[in-house]
Amino acid sequence: MALRRPMVAGNWKMNGSRQLAEELVKKFAKLKDDSAEVLICPPTVFLESASRLLEESKQSLDGRLVRLGAQNVSHHEFGAYTGEVSASMLREFGCKYVIIGHSERRRMYGETSDVVAEKFATAQKMGLTPILCVGESLAAREASRTFEVIAGELDAVIEKVGTLAFDNAIIAYEPLWAVGTGKSATPEQAQEVHAFIRHRLSDVSPFIGEKIRILYGGSVKPSNAADLFSQPDVDGGLIGGVSLNASEFLAVCSIA
Ligand code: PGA
Repeated sequence: MALRRPMVAGNWKMNGSRQLAEELVKKFAKLKDDSAEVLICPPTVFLESASRLLEESKQSLDGRLVRLGAQNVSHHEFGAYTGEVSASMLREFGCKYVIIGHSERRRMYGETSDVVAEKFATAQKMGLTPILCVGESLAAREASRTFEVIAGELDAVIEKVGTLAFDNAIIAYEPLWAVGTGKSATPEQAQEVHAFIRHRLSDVSPFIGEKIRILYGGSVKPSNAADLFSQPDVDGGLIGGVSLNASEFLAVCSIA
């Protein structure tokens, strides 16, 4: 068996409905046995019904578990933080994963690398597996600063939790210029950054570097998934827009 099982994660963002969850869960039963680990990350308010549906469909899914993840989590464990949702609450809703540091949160909600690192640490402490998003802007890429930006975002978390914490984590490389733009990175561009991330972790722990799954995100669709996922250091994808279309999302899952 391959060391890294591919993963396809659907990030619905602030879209979707209970009905979409139902539609997707029904179709998951058609995924092949050897296919990728599949994860959906609906908005928080739909987690409970999605969790229930997944639980009910376990039999038809024949033990092939489809996972549930959240799109965000508080960096505090509990307390007077109006509007926030804690990692332990997400666990209660059946989440196993949580997306941390998505570029929309960094850009639009002022999440600094420090806060991202704290969220990573809190999520892990409470038993969730973080999916840490890193990615450069178009300006940074054009100024040949891609590796510098990625290293900075990665190191902020490593400084807080240590490299060994990545034993239970996933990384998503999502270039900002590819997220929601329809313009994906080329397979070569993705591979180059994925290899860079893997080497950075391998420098401290070759085992973790080999083992960690690094997903590519940014305008993945059925027509470009095969080329992206066939790169040696690309272990699947974090899918935005296409995850809202059941048949397209399922097509991407079976390519991985
Ligand atoms: P996209 O989004 O697939 O719509 O580009 C990816 C993401 O934001 O995770």
